[in-house]
Amino acid sequence: MSEKTGVDWADAMWNPWIGCTRVTLECKNCYFFRAAERCRFTASNIRKTKTFDEPMKWRKSRSVKPLAKIMVCGWSDFFHEASDPWRADAWHIMRMLDEYVFVITTKRSERIAECLPPDWGGGYPNVWLGVSVGHPCALQRIADLHRIPAAVRFLSIEPLIASIQFTPAMLRGIHWAIIGGESGLDARPMDPVWAHQARISLLVAGVPTYFKQWGVWADPITAALNIPTPTSAIAHTFPSGSTVYRLGLKNTGHLINGEELLEYPQAYAIMRENFKKRSRW
Ligand code: SF4
Repeated sequence: MSEKTGVDWADAMWNPWIGCTRVTLECKNCYFFRAAERCRFTASNIRKTKTFDEPMKWRKSRSVKPLAKIMVCGWSDFFHEASDPWRADAWHIMRMLDEYVFVITTKRSERIAECLPPDWGGGYPNVWLGVSVGHPCALQRIADLHRIPAAVRFLSIEPLIASIQFTPAMLRGIHWAIIGGESGLDARPMDPVWAHQARISLLVAGVPTYFKQWGVWADPITAALNIPTPTSAIAHTFPSGSTVYRLGLKNTGHLINGEELLEYPQAYAIMRENFKKRSRW
């Protein structure tokens, strides 16, 4: 519900509703469920928030600047069935506030088509639509996404909990990707081999990529940069032979293979240029 977000590719988070139910094994350690347990509320109680129209206030007060990337439904799934009665109003807000970028990620990709607004057309220019794909069991979501017209289609490859073979056909028409490992006490480690495989497939396909985090378990390069003797940290070795070290989330940054990877879709640069020309603000 806050303007602030710990997700560093985003400038703000908008939660028009909160609450969710698990749909896949990738949801096992969902941070919203962890927060609910800590704060003793029922995570599966899906409810509209009092801050539903917060982006309108941000715009008026200019507390969130134009071109901000706003993560939508960080504590829910935008396409959850229980939120059907409120979604039309949420679409309306996004369409009106076209100086912001609204970024929607879902695990309920099979519902996207039936939940789009009547005037969606080729997609609202300021809405980026993505699916979460952290395991091969989620590949159908990419096929679902391909069927939806959108200004930016993206993959949120996190938490990456298994090896995924991304083929060129899967990545055609994908404009952005985020790669990340899992956070939280019971975080499942990400094999550096899986992350590198995904990175290479995206690079070959020309998909700009944002490496968000290793998660709680870091690769040897990141570990070596953060602690004097990585071998003093708890280690996990994968069947591939690679080893990761438990550093805790705050120590695992954006380096993959020693390279910082913080790319955004090309459409964002174009939007920035167009915005300058409009200079309405
Ligand atoms: S869909 Fe997202 S918010 Fe919902 S339970 Fe799964 S990980 Fe959590």
